[in-house]
Amino acid sequence: DLSNAMVAQDETGRPFIIVRDQGKKKRSYGAEAVKNHILAAQTVASIIKTSLGPRGLDKILISPDGDITITNDGATILSQMDIDNQIAKLLVELSKSQDDEIGDGTTGVVVLAGALLQQAADLIDKGIHPVRIANGFDEACAVAVAELDRIADEVPYSQEDSSNLMKAAKTSLGSKIVSKAHDMFAQIAVEAVLAVADLERKDVDFELLKVDGKVGGALEDTALIRGVLVDKDMSHPQMPRSLKDAKLAILTCPFEPPKPKTKHKLDISSAAEFKKLQEYERDKFIEMINHVKDAGANMVICQWGFDDEANHLLYQHNLPAVRWVGGPEIETIAIATQGRIVPRFEDLTSEKLGKAGTIRELSFGTTRDKMLVIEDCANPRAVTVFVRGSNKMIVDEAKRALHDAICVVRNIIRDNRIVYGGGAAEIAASIAVASEADKRKGIDQYALRGFANALDSIPMILAENSGLDAINSLTTIKARQIMDSNSHLGIDCLEKGSNDMKELFVIDPLISKRQQLLLATQLTRMILKINAVIVNGSDEG
Ligand code: ADP
Repeated sequence: DLSNAMVAQDETGRPFIIVRDQGKKKRSYGAEAVKNHILAAQTVASIIKTSLGPRGLDKILISPDGDITITNDGATILSQMDIDNQIAKLLVELSKSQDDEIGDGTTGVVVLAGALLQQAADLIDKGIHPVRIANGFDEACAVAVAELDRIADEVPYSQEDSSNLMKAAKTSLGSKIVSKAHDMFAQIAVEAVLAVADLERKDVDFELLKVDGKVGGALEDTALIRGVLVDKDMSHPQMPRSLKDAKLAILTCPFEPPKPKTKHKLDISSAAEFKKLQEYERDKFIEMINHVKDAGANMVICQWGFDDEANHLLYQHNLPAVRWVGGPEIETIAIATQGRIVPRFEDLTSEKLGKAGTIRELSFGTTRDKMLVIEDCANPRAVTVFVRGSNKMIVDEAKRALHDAICVVRNIIRDNRIVYGGGAAEIAASIAVASEADKRKGIDQYALRGFANALDSIPMILAENSGLDAINSLTTIKARQIMDSNSHLGIDCLEKGSNDMKELFVIDPLISKRQQLLLATQLTRMILKINAVIVNGSDEG
């Protein structure tokens, strides 16, 4: 019953949630209030539900200024929905925290929370107190997580044999828009992560890995660059297009002659005097150029701009330069080239220069667009994935898909314990929770059963989204899992002809699945314990 909340679209087609406000006339408290909150949250979950899994539907999101996003990434969909209801907003936060901590499973966590809330609403209808339900769910969650730990498998990998990482990346890309470039994208994701990974310490340095994109070309032109990409070109068209053995002065201070008028009082009364001033400025700037060259630099990266005159002098004195480089890009360049950012011009010394084997300009067909590639950097681990695609939507979605795949690979490197996907892990956990419920005599068994049912809805939704009979699929597979004691069996979403997810290599990192359970349970608990929302001092009930 969603009579209290509905999805509507504003004049730009952007979805938003209307939750009818009953607070004005009749304020509800306790269980009834909790049920209202549950309805609001469920509305959000029900939008996200159809995006789950490899056959999940994409959503088109249109922002107020007309930007279009096509995605089936839960976190992205939620972050762009204009949600007014405070409780519904918690779901947005939920997928964000899953995204921040794991970078994967953002749709699943919201769907699971929606299912838990549905079960909670049913239990409230049975007359069970919300706090009691919350406690029961907590217990059930502990049982489910313990079961995940028990059934977890290890995925072997090494620098030499990354085939399992490849498979994992491919599974992750499976539900995303880039399906035609799967192999290539998976390869890029794995190579990129391995470049910045320390397999000994099981550590992946994301600081050194950037995902960048530009509209143009085809998805297949996407490439891994062993270095840094800067969305700028040389400041002067006649400066060299490429440079070997670059030594970079990385400046965040202005690179222009000091303005004398602020320091000394100057009276200009004749053309000759004006010329003198000009000459003074020029000489000063040449001095600065020489200072840079004396330090050993053969290129300048500057956060500030410089005028045409200065630009010309730089060209004349053979010092290629890039201007207006953004703060984050400057930092990336410094990290990759192991140079130091120089905030005061006087502080520039040779030890502070960044080093790179080559710097070259990248141009794009007939357009005037250019980018700079800084390769073979002092820190050889810095890499950039450069995504191409025929329009912004495709580039953005491909970037998100790659981000997910990169996170999956990173997660396995950090911790290579996995559980099987396609709902297999959820079914196994559900069986464990249900059997715990069987041991209970009191009211708590209901909450445990409710939790088990919520877990079951993941495989059911996966089946439904794949056009399969949900109840039938679930019961068959559950029976087989119990009969064969095989926790690898799940929903064959892509109709590959097998339900063995180990065979299909449909896996989810254990930490991701575990986090989903913990976060969704936590959120449900929170909603079950709220019985009034106070906004600006008014009581929404
Ligand atoms: P999320 O944003 O939560 O990762 P996805 O839309 O990527 O959501 O869907 C992930 C779910 O789909 C997981 O439960 C995963 O096990 C399942 N899944 C992914 N690929 C397959 C597949 N080929 N067959 C069956 N299930 C799959």
